Amino acid sequence: MGDSRPNILFIMSDDHASHAISAYGSRINQTPNMDRIAAEGMLFENCFCTNSICSPSRATILTGTHSHINGVRTLGDKFDGRQQTFPKLLQQAGYQTAIVGKWHLGIGGHSSPTGFDYWNVFPSQGLYYDPNMICMGEEVRYQGYATEIVTDLALEWLDQRDRERPFLLLCHHKAPHRPWEPAEKHADLYNDVEIPYPATFNDDYQNRSSAAVQAEMRIFGHMNYGDLKLEIPPGKTAMSFIEIPQDLAGFSLTPVETGIPQYFASHEELKNWMYQRYIKDYLRCVASIDESVGRLLDYLDAEGIAENTIVIYTSDQGFFLGDHGWYDKRFMYEESLRMPFLVRYPREIPAGAVCTLMASNLDFAPTFLDYAGLDIPQDMQGRSLRPLLRGEKPADWRTALYYRYWMHLADHNVPAHYGIRTERYKLIYYYGQALGLAATIDRPTEPEWELFDLEADPAELRNVYHDRRYAAVVKELTAELERLKAEALDRE
Ligand code: CA
Repeated sequence: MGDSRPNILFIMSDDHASHAISAYGSRINQTPNMDRIAAEGMLFENCFCTNSICSPSRATILTGTHSHINGVRTLGDKFDGRQQTFPKLLQQAGYQTAIVGKWHLGIGGHSSPTGFDYWNVFPSQGLYYDPNMICMGEEVRYQGYATEIVTDLALEWLDQRDRERPFLLLCHHKAPHRPWEPAEKHADLYNDVEIPYPATFNDDYQNRSSAAVQAEMRIFGHMNYGDLKLEIPPGKTAMSFIEIPQDLAGFSLTPVETGIPQYFASHEELKNWMYQRYIKDYLRCVASIDESVGRLLDYLDAEGIAENTIVIYTSDQGFFLGDHGWYDKRFMYEESLRMPFLVRYPREIPAGAVCTLMASNLDFAPTFLDYAGLDIPQDMQGRSLRPLLRGEKPADWRTALYYRYWMHLADHNVPAHYGIRTERYKLIYYYGQALGLAATIDRPTEPEWELFDLEADPAELRNVYHDRRYAAVVKELTAELERLKAEALDRE
């Protein structure tokens, strides 16, 4: 008899928000292959990251621990691969293990991938076109489009595997991360349609902390020429913010693909145009990932291993898709905090199931160890999702999650903050300190609090922290936040 432990195919993209997946009710695109995982498995409505930024989320997924435990709190921290990770534990238990695509935890020193029989990853962010990759320590150049290359590498590795032993394959896409460069075959997708605008597109940040007001991630004001693939005016670079004059007379922007200047009658028209430029490229990148998911699912079918393979589709965090007028992530707000999380495993997971309990990227490692029949180490801070995936609702399942973003003011001027999300409320504390960490800006900001009643205000437009009617809630949640912070062993 062969080894009957399940295979694990973990597909993760970068910055793919769940509201750009049709299974999650997207109003702006269709993702038929991702939807297949949901239709044949389980969709998690409330899966949240502990720190909404790329490398930290990846370190949490590998280790099952919070950022301050695994050491990757910011983009400036190096991952120490000598620590315990779930791929290492699976490898030791006889799994064949591989990672292809985005690693983003550093190469060299103790940061290169460990626990993998095969690894072939982008050196850092990676390029969308003709990327170089580091294959087991050696640089290799590839021709073509990153999403397709990563998919090809995943399929090649699967095809050469030992069919007598289970596998763990991490297929990590670069897309749809900034600068949102689509495959040539999708360059004209959505050309003839207007993508709907999010409900909070024209958010004016009234009744919010100054953090939201000051954040530099507005589509209208903080996008650069490279983001929108525009001809660069003299004296500017691809990274320069597009400066928007008060008076639009004579102002134009020139898309590189047409070379034809665009003129605008109003600021509203300009802002809408910029959103369309941004979101269409983002969605074109997503279209390639969806195709990749389809190719991988088809391979499992052709091999006859779909029944015994756990397939996951997720992203390292969420993203603002024009919500609150923004792009990017970082904030503890819903669009950024929520991760897509779709899981198919026909042996245990009922088809078309939806889970509303709170899951977290802390839970991924314990879940995989559980399915592989291994003990879950005590120092992992998440819990196996396996009972939830079987459709159970454990009485002691968590009803609140702890979050912390450490990169004070770096890149997009978002102050560091921590907070708690319960089923109904979200309490956020912007403590305003860099704490001497790498990739922060050492300029203290005034401490501020936000409380949102997600039942009355799911879009998080009204901070009710100072509303006397919520005084009891504030008191209770503040205590609960401190309890969770201590439980997470966060002493800073
Ligand atoms: Ca990311």
